[in-house]
Amino acid sequence: MQVPFLDLKAQTRALWPELLPAIERIAQDAAFVLGPGVSNFEQDFAAYCGAKHCVGVNNGTTALQMALLAHDVGPGDEVITTPHTWISTSWAISYVGAKPVFVDVDPHSYTLDPARIERAITPRTKALLPVHLYGRAAELDPMVDIAKRHNLVLIEDAAQAHGAKLGDRRVGSIGDSGCFSFYPGKNLGAMGEAGAVVTNDEKVAARIRQLRDHAQAGRHHHVEIGYNARMEGLQGAVLSVKLKHLDAWTASRRKHANHYHELLAGAKNLVLPQRPAQAESHVWHLFVVLVPAEARDGIQKKLSERGIGTGVHYPTPVSLQPAYAYLGHKPGDFPVAEDVMRRCLSLPMFAELSDEQLEYTAAALRECV
Ligand SMILES: *Cc1c(COP(=O)(O)O)cnc(C)c1O
Repeated sequence: MQVPFLDLKAQTRALWPELLPAIERIAQDAAFVLGPGVSNFEQDFAAYCGAKHCVGVNNGTTALQMALLAHDVGPGDEVITTPHTWISTSWAISYVGAKPVFVDVDPHSYTLDPARIERAITPRTKALLPVHLYGRAAELDPMVDIAKRHNLVLIEDAAQAHGAKLGDRRVGSIGDSGCFSFYPGKNLGAMGEAGAVVTNDEKVAARIRQLRDHAQAGRHHHVEIGYNARMEGLQGAVLSVKLKHLDAWTASRRKHANHYHELLAGAKNLVLPQRPAQAESHVWHLFVVLVPAEARDGIQKKLSERGIGTGVHYPTPVSLQPAYAYLGHKPGDFPVAEDVMRRCLSLPMFAELSDEQLEYTAAALRECV
């Protein structure tokens, strides 16, 4: 049996009758950049997140950069974030001229540990940038308090957690701004690159609208150094179609996560991802188990020989990437994140994964560990 790590073709096949007219409409209207495809999606996605505003941009990395710029984070500022994430979280901090200050993650949620944040705050700290990693909402409540007490901006990297809830609020709408990626492999994916910032702050939304379009206040009137960070009309149209299916896909991912848990419970040498008390606060972008560090490569290889695709998210903490050597971090600086990185293994997880594929994967993994 073949079990791909991710099968994007299945989703497109199933939705093609809905996608095609939406794509045709944009093409026939030649509304390729911004336009109604984007503005309609912005309204749909703001409403979905429970935020007042959504501004579509060209990818998730830019969404983070635009949010930091719009909250006036810049040179000389420090931004507290996690070393256990996709590199973009840190890129955005660097792009605006600020310095990423890493704080270790919680050993159960693998997200930024709120108990360690205050020790890292200095007079230069300007913002907190937690990541809702693997689809699990980070512990935002204490971070909201910390941000208030220290007068910091709270920006959420929600690129992996579309629709995840904390209480009855969706991630992205809880901090000052929330940033999303619609890269094809995310829970809500475009047919190419796309991203968005959601916020309740009218000024922030207006500034990002301006920044993304060459900082034009009127045609040919550029009020600051701007960017071409516009979302394409086709992507907006595709995303509006897909957004209607997101909750059903998430329900399917959650069912798969529970199924993995049942089948893998009690397996030796295997740590399963913690299911949060509120089931809705995890949207299972990835299903990541921990295996013994020295066995991980071998397990991956054995699974691959049986036709099962897996991934490692991520093998190296951002703090130890050559690009961040100037920060002077050493192995051991973030022991929890580093331990997770050595042991993590991502299993196949997507809405269309079949029970047979999942059962085959779980049985193979049990044998391999
Ligand atoms: C995917 C991702 C991003 C960046 O999104 P792109 O659209 O690929 O630029 C940022 N942060 C996290 C945590 C991500 O997973």
